[in-house]
Amino acid sequence: MSNKQSELQKKFFVLRETSLFDFPMVKQIVFINNDVRLINEMNDKFGEKIVQINFTGNIQESLKIENRNHQLVKIFPKNKKDIIQISKALKEKRFLICPAYSINKLEDISIVSSMDLIIDLIPIIENIDFDLSMEILNYYLHNQNLNVSIEPFHSILVSKLHQKPKTLWNMNLLNPDMFYFSDGQGLAEDSKNFQNQDYRYLIDHQSRTFQKQKYRSHLDSFFKSLPETRPDCLACPHFHICIGWALYQKDTCTKWKKILSILQDASREIQALEKFEKEHAIIPSEKKK
Ligand code: SF4
Repeated sequence: MSNKQSELQKKFFVLRETSLFDFPMVKQIVFINNDVRLINEMNDKFGEKIVQINFTGNIQESLKIENRNHQLVKIFPKNKKDIIQISKALKEKRFLICPAYSINKLEDISIVSSMDLIIDLIPIIENIDFDLSMEILNYYLHNQNLNVSIEPFHSILVSKLHQKPKTLWNMNLLNPDMFYFSDGQGLAEDSKNFQNQDYRYLIDHQSRTFQKQKYRSHLDSFFKSLPETRPDCLACPHFHICIGWALYQKDTCTKWKKILSILQDASREIQALEKFEKEHAIIPSEKKK
């Protein structure tokens, strides 16, 4: 196996259909589908390869997903009522709730998290109004009754605390070094590229391999052009997490800059508190005899 081919084994394949599941080089799959029967069938055969399931079907049906311990399952409810009706079962399943309904007020989120369900706003956060985004962030950071995380705030805060940056690109499954999307004919770095036939690899279904294409990566070009086109990014304190994501195909990064600054301040406060507690413990730890 050539180096280029073995490199593919480290990638995540974001797939809507199943024709690549049995390819030897496909080792890590994000499976996007709305058919529970098919998801369970693929999980039976290829469960060890499937790392994430994005279930886009009816959320009542989602309860039938027989997911494995290592798998992250995201579901996309179209209204709050459906969530409330089966909240207890969803909590037991530990699915991430990605609201596919409009978020117009804090209650659209808080009613879900108050049922101890984890929320993931990554797919819709760009569409949430600035003030409301700040209100939700404030609710995540300061509501003492909140027992569950709200993503992506939680992951960013944890990554800052542990100094292990998770980038906004990876959270959005966009990174030419990590994720490939497939339409059955080829692999592309972005699902939108299929229209232009911008394949990095063509799929050889007969030999179950991939053939590299001459291809100029749009995302690589964006990253390489950052110093020239977005000089502020290189000086930005949040570059290690954002890497220009907030300005990718957008005009302003004001919202993300504010979110990242608030999370940065929160992580500093937590670290300072932890340090203080260690240094000023009222009850010293018992000495060994
Ligand atoms: S927050 Fe804005 S300036 Fe900072 S890295 Fe992201 S896009 Fe660039």
